[in-house]
Amino acid sequence: MNPEPHTKKHIVIIGAGFGGMACAFRLARLSNVAVTLVDKRNHHLFQPLLYQVATSTLTAPDIARSVRSIFKTHQNVDVRFDEAKRIHRHSKRVEFSSGYSLEYDYLVLATGVRTSFFGNDHWQKHTLQLKSLSEAFEIRKSVLKNLELADQSSHEEERNKLATVVIVGGGPTGVELAGAFSDLIKRTMRNSFRNFDARTQRIVLLEGMPDLLTPFSEEQRLYAKRHLEGLGVEVKTNSFVEDIQPEEVHLQGGEVIHSGAIIWAAGVEGMNIAKKLDVPVSRANKVLVNPNLTIPGSPELYVIGDAAAINQEDGSSVPGVAPAAVQGGEFVADHIRKSILGHPVPEKFNYADKGKMAVIGKGAAIVDIKGRRVEGWFGWLIWLFVHLIFLVDFRSKLAVLINWFWSYVQNSPGSRVFTSTSSEISVAEKASSERDHESS
Ligand SMILES: Cc1cc2nc3c(=O)[nH]c(=O)nc-3n(C[C@H](O)[C@H](O)[C@H](O)COP(=O)(O)OP(=O)(O)OC[C@H]3O[C@@H](n4cnc5c(N)ncnc54)[C@H](O)[C@@H]3O)c2cc1C
Repeated sequence: MNPEPHTKKHIVIIGAGFGGMACAFRLARLSNVAVTLVDKRNHHLFQPLLYQVATSTLTAPDIARSVRSIFKTHQNVDVRFDEAKRIHRHSKRVEFSSGYSLEYDYLVLATGVRTSFFGNDHWQKHTLQLKSLSEAFEIRKSVLKNLELADQSSHEEERNKLATVVIVGGGPTGVELAGAFSDLIKRTMRNSFRNFDARTQRIVLLEGMPDLLTPFSEEQRLYAKRHLEGLGVEVKTNSFVEDIQPEEVHLQGGEVIHSGAIIWAAGVEGMNIAKKLDVPVSRANKVLVNPNLTIPGSPELYVIGDAAAINQEDGSSVPGVAPAAVQGGEFVADHIRKSILGHPVPEKFNYADKGKMAVIGKGAAIVDIKGRRVEGWFGWLIWLFVHLIFLVDFRSKLAVLINWFWSYVQNSPGSRVFTSTSSEISVAEKASSERDHESS
């Protein structure tokens, strides 16, 4: 049933990521609205620290919180665990995968993005991705399991393959993963195996452009590359992936890298639901929004965060980062409030760029705050502080702080636990190699 029809304006927010949450928090203060916040997951996820779950420093409850628990004291926010399938713009109705549907006065689409393989969708089944908790645990399991198998293997070729992690994409996610895996395997676990020298583990970071971390200054890009190489990461720039086969990455020029864990961190695109709105989308399938974040022909339908393609006055696009999603969510909440009250509404969303940062292994980061650049340990402290502030609640902040402190002092991140048994793994490996054999 739709909540309190005709008495309060009903605002449906799809997606409880950074944008949707910021919008819901601001609307929750108003007495003249009823908000329904819908997400296909039951939790809000702090994606910037997902790589630390994949690399064993943090665990799921440190960076994820049940959406229902976050809004338990906000009486005008109803939380729904469901997946939006279709938006009927003209009848102002959303259909969900459960068969349920909701009518709205205002709709905020904050569905984020998904991994893109640039038209090579068959690469998905040969690679690991990092957009959700389950994917982070899959990466953790894959890399740790391969180390266990490498310790047992007597075939050099097999062992080399198991002991090679390939990360495709030299943006912040790829760089952060490469640095953290190098710390974990080459340093923390270097004495953990009796039949295998973990320091021989290959961590290969592939980037098609001439540099890693393109939005940063040349000096900082160079710093990041040198620092990663110092950690033992093989950084291969100007390296285009031509094809990905089971446990093989084929590069332009003929080189083939054999790897038991290929992680794809190279691209994203808008979700299907956004594409189905029947409005123009960008090349990455993000919705091209009006300057006030509504879509053409539907002044009550907003698209925010990563799902939106927002052009700025200088011709650039608003970047797909958490602060942009939060600012968009707050802007839209204010826009809706003013529109309900009949007050003049702002015509344009202006993104305030607070800076960018990327961490490159333990104790080093690059930070660029409006042209003020910091590298190394001090940069890492700034990075730590900023990420703690943005975590959703006090419990997460405390848990993450304790975990970081412990890993730093002990030189030993996290529990390095995965849940499959050795028999489950050998059955799965056998099935997958038979599948690959049949399809090749
Ligand atoms: C590994 C990784 C590292 C990152 N690191 C950084 C960083 O260091 N700094 C930074 O600023 N940004 C970083 N980002 C980007 C940042 O996380 C995003 O810009 C931000 O999450 C965008 O917020 P959003 O609200 O638009 O989407 P999201 O936070 O992605 O939220 C979208 C929500 O919508 C839900 N959803 C999707 N489709 C549906 C549907 N059909 N029905 C119901 N629910 C749906 C999803 O479950 C999700 O909860 C990183 C991203 C990743 C993946």
